[in-house]
Amino acid sequence: RPGVAFENVVFGYEPGRTILQGLSFAVPAGAHVAIVGPSGAGKSTIARLLFRFYDPRSGRVTIDGQDIAQVTQASLRAAIGIVPQDSVLFNDTIGYNIGYGRAEATPEAIEAAARGAAIWPFIERLPAGLDTEVGERGLKLSGGEKQRVAIARTLVKDPPILLLDEATSALDSRTEQDILATLHRVSRDRTTISIAHRLSTIAGADEILVMDQGRLAERGSHPALLRAG
Ligand code: ADP
Ligand code: ADP
Repeated sequence: RPGVAFENVVFGYEPGRTILQGLSFAVPAGAHVAIVGPSGAGKSTIARLLFRFYDPRSGRVTIDGQDIAQVTQASLRAAIGIVPQDSVLFNDTIGYNIGYGRAEATPEAIEAAARGAAIWPFIERLPAGLDTEVGERGLKLSGGEKQRVAIARTLVKDPPILLLDEATSALDSRTEQDILATLHRVSRDRTTISIAHRLSTIAGADEILVMDQGRLAERGSHPALLRAG
């Protein structure tokens, strides 16, 4: 399991405006670090740098100690599984959505991923299992059900690193608790970075980094930050 680190990362989208002001943090192998902060703090920018949509102006981002600038796009994508806020599903079966385009997606792997994402409770209510049609734009599934399919779609790759990018932000609070419990479970054996604007949507992080205006404003364990309000 690889660790992830940002080392003195300075980054801006435009000349003359710096967004990340020498950001450093480490996610030890297998640990779960959450990044929270208000809108505009720079959270998504961290995700974009991790996928190398952009490169830092200075400093570096490493996986397993290796500068990701030295890593191929293909291995970067294989290493990091993302669960985004709004997952677009294909108008096809649940199984197809989980396995789409992935060499790893054998029927056994799809079933294991579906189990990992706890899809079974909801497909019991549907006429069939993984053969069930998702329907036009996934509309036959609830938001939570769609998010479970998205989690399974990520799990089928068995990525050593998990990036949860506002993964429950679009859900109502009860559904959110269900999905958080699942994410907590599946993140246990992976290096995990979760990004959220609310502290309450972080499940089981070992450390919380509070970002503000491109800097780390605070860091600590979850209960300590909750006490601080
Ligand atoms: P967060 O995810 O915490 O809401 P972002 O990382 O999206 O914050 O944005 C951090 C800052 O970078 C904001 O001031 C935002 O306006 C700016 N920003 C984000 N994307 C771009 C872009 N493509 N071009 C220029 N500025 C951007
Ligand atoms: P793949 O099988 O190609 O890895 P993924 O669903 O993991 O498919 O996503 C492919 C790539 O698309 C990711 O590696 C990432 O670069 C990008 N991507 C997908 N969703 C997002 C998102 N919400 N934010 C940032 N990047 C994303």
